[in-house]
Parts: sequence; structure tokens; C-alpha cells
Amino acid sequence: MNGSYDVLVVGGGPGGAVAARTAAEAGLSVLLVEKRPAIGVPVRCAEGIGKDHLLEFIEPDPKFISAEIDTAVFVGPDGENFTLKSRSAGELIGYTLNRKVFDRELIWKAAEAGAEIQTHARAAEPILEGDRICGAVIEQHGKRFTIRAKVVIAADGVESKFAKWAGIDTTIPLSEIETCAQYVVNDIDIDEKANRFSFSFEDAPGGYIWVFPKGNRCANIGVGILGTKSGEGCRARDYLDRFIEKNYPNGKITELIVGGISVCRPLAETAADGLLITGDAARLSDPLTGCGIYNAMFSGKLAAETAVSAVKNGDTSKKALMAYDKAWRESGMGKALVRNYAVKEAFLHLNDDKLNSIIHSMQNRKIEEISVRNLVIAILNENPQLAKEMPALLELMR
Ligand SMILES: Cc1cc2nc3c(=O)[nH]c(=O)nc-3n(C[C@H](O)[C@H](O)[C@H](O)COP(=O)(O)OP(=O)(O)OC[C@H]3O[C@@H](n4cnc5c(N)ncnc54)[C@H](O)[C@@H]3O)c2cc1C
Repeated sequence: MNGSYDVLVVGGGPGGAVAARTAAEAGLSVLLVEKRPAIGVPVRCAEGIGKDHLLEFIEPDPKFISAEIDTAVFVGPDGENFTLKSRSAGELIGYTLNRKVFDRELIWKAAEAGAEIQTHARAAEPILEGDRICGAVIEQHGKRFTIRAKVVIAADGVESKFAKWAGIDTTIPLSEIETCAQYVVNDIDIDEKANRFSFSFEDAPGGYIWVFPKGNRCANIGVGILGTKSGEGCRARDYLDRFIEKNYPNGKITELIVGGISVCRPLAETAADGLLITGDAARLSDPLTGCGIYNAMFSGKLAAETAVSAVKNGDTSKKALMAYDKAWRESGMGKALVRNYAVKEAFLHLNDDKLNSIIHSMQNRKIEEISVRNLVIAILNENPQLAKEMPALLELMR
């Protein structure tokens, strides 16, 4: 590790990897530090990504794709369901990734572009000059390195410290965290091309249960529930165990992960003097679906592009870096975050009876491209009463 770089990227997830690659490709000197000993593990993800979303960043390759998905099945509390087959897969379904390999592939592309990658390297504290972020102290193998950078890109995930160090309020209220538990379950009978989403306030309060096939009779099966709903005997893992016991009693469980997903609004500001904040660290995971891989890559790329202009213009002030904040908010991703936050809030006002009638109403519907927006429009069209109760939601979908 050298003493100074144009850009220091903190975090080797999809957001950090794409940011490092983009900045390095533009000719900047880039150091990416990842606190874990290896990239991509442990996996804390259901690994689903839309086809179009993946294609925007990387050519699909069998080495990091576990399964190709063309169907979404939405199951209601009473067990009735509706199925959507996707001709143009849209944003909701496409692939189940193998993130152990995928994350490494993204990092490899960053290294290939010229970024220096250091693992087992934790950003322990920021270097500050007044309020300005000028780098970070990196701890690696018991040693401390002072790394100065013109711009720091904080891609340090949902537990991000960097934004807080810059004085930005990153608190997520318990009511806006989904606590999740997921098993990798083997030897089960499933439709290998269909993602299943089960909704029930009794079985997954304030969240949903997912079954994402990984090929060879194996799937990621998980549940997310609202942080406020969790308690003794009703933790995410308890709900998951009950679901597995009922639906896949003979499945062989080979992995357990637990993790949190923010379902709040994005940070009020995602730039400060010398600092850009991306992906989960900026609270950019989708508040409705919990998906954040694409948003991390998208914001990582935008952050790096902004850093490149700022470094080339010799102005890395907050004022200059806020161009990034503006750009992502005005993008399709930014608009989808606003829409999906409103849909999530509306969803939390439903109950199991309403969920059942929504699922029943959708049983004969066909949707060309499976996106949240198209789905919500179809649901509101089929349920005029719901549309009347939620006029603002209808307006947002236009
Ligand atoms: C149970 C679960 C299921 C999910 N399923 C899906 C899904 O199916 N599809 C989807 O799109 N998204 C899903 N997500 C969300 C998705 O995993 C994240 O949105 C995505 O990984 C965000 O990428 P990121 O680069 O912002 O952060 P991360 O992938 O979290 O990467 C951040 C990295 O920063 C490192 N780091 C943290 N602090 C430091 C430090 N101080 N110094 C150095 N390194 C540091 C961490 O070790 C980590 O590797 C799921 C999340 C959970 C918890």
C-alpha cells in the first residue's frame, strides 16, 4: 500500500468493485480495501438479479450464474398464487447468481483495470482536515497504514461507519430494518426456473419469504421480517424454520445466513467534502424488494465517474461531489426508490385478507415485463377499491 491515491474505495462488495473499476479505467490511481480475508464470503444475499440489470454491468457467465429464472410465482396467505412468465425478464427476475464467484469476478475486473486490491484491510478511522475527508487509517495484519486520497468512496455496506464519521446521520429506525434469515436447502423438489415470493403477515410479518432456485434441486430459502416484529420465538429464523418444516421437511440445509436490510429512504445526502457514499452504505437497497446488488453497482459507477471529473478538475469539495447525489436521485434507480418506498408503506397497511384478494384478482393477468411498477399498476387496475384508498400511489406509478 502506497501513502496516497486519487481514490480510496472502502468495501469490496459490488458497489466498491464497480467504483474501483470505473475510476481505474479512467486512469486514476485507486486503492480498494476490504476488511474480510476474502472477497464474496460469507454470502449475505439471496443472489437474485434482473437480467437487464446484470447485463448493464457484465456479460452473464455460467461460472457466476447458478440458475436462469423466467417465472415469478406470488403466493398469498391462503396458499393461492399467481404466476408471471417473463418474455423480457425485466428487473425482478433473471438470474440467481453465485455471489462467491460473482463478487470476485467484479473485483478481478477492477484489478485488471489497474486498481490495487487489499483484503484483510479495514478502514479503521478517517483522516480529517477540519470537516474534510482526506483518506483513512487502514489496519492490516496488525499494522496501521495512513492512506491519503483525494476522494474516498464509502462502499462499506449496510453497517457503514464512514458516512457517520463524516457527520451524516445514518441511523436506521428498527421499523425500517428487515431482519433476515436464509438457508441454502438441497435435495428439494422445486420448479428450477421459478422464483417464489410468499406473502403473509402471519408467516412473515412486514416482509416476505423467498425461494430462489440455484440449480440441481437446491435453493436459497429465506425470510425477511420487520425489525419491530421480531421477538422471542418470532425471530426471522423461527419463521424460516416453520416454513421449511411445512414445505420442505426433507430438505438438507447446508448453510445459514442472517443479515439486515435497510428499507428506509436513502441518506439525506450522499456526498461530503472528499467523500462519496454508495450502495447499502447510502441506504440505496430497494425498500420494497430488499434488492441492492444492482443499485450498489449503479451508484458505484456514478460515484466513480463523479470522482474522476472532480479529481481532473481539482475540486473535490462537497459542492462538486453533490453532482453524484443529484445524478442518482434523478436516475431511473432514484425514481424507483421513491416509488417503491411508497409501495412498501402501502403494503404495510394491508392485512392477510387483503393480500388474499389481491393474489386472487391477479390470477389471470399477464404482464409483459415483470417490474414492480407494472405489477403495482396491474394490482391497482384489478382492485379499484385499493386504488381509491391509495390515490397517491396511483399517481406515483404514472
Ligand atoms: C438476507 C439477504 C438477502 C438479500 N438478497 C438479495 C437479492 O436477492 N438480490 C439483491 O439484489 N440484493 C439482495 N440483498 C442485498 C444485497 O446483498 C446488498 O444490497 C448488496 O450486497 C450491496 O452491495 P454493497 O457493495 O453496497 O455492500 P456489500 O455487498 O455489503 O459490501 C460492503 C463490503 O464492505 C466491507 N467493509 C465494511 N466495512 C469496512 C471497513 N471499515 N473497511 C473495509 N471494508 C469494509 C464489507 O466486509 C463488505 O464486503 C440481500 C441482503 C440480505 C441481507
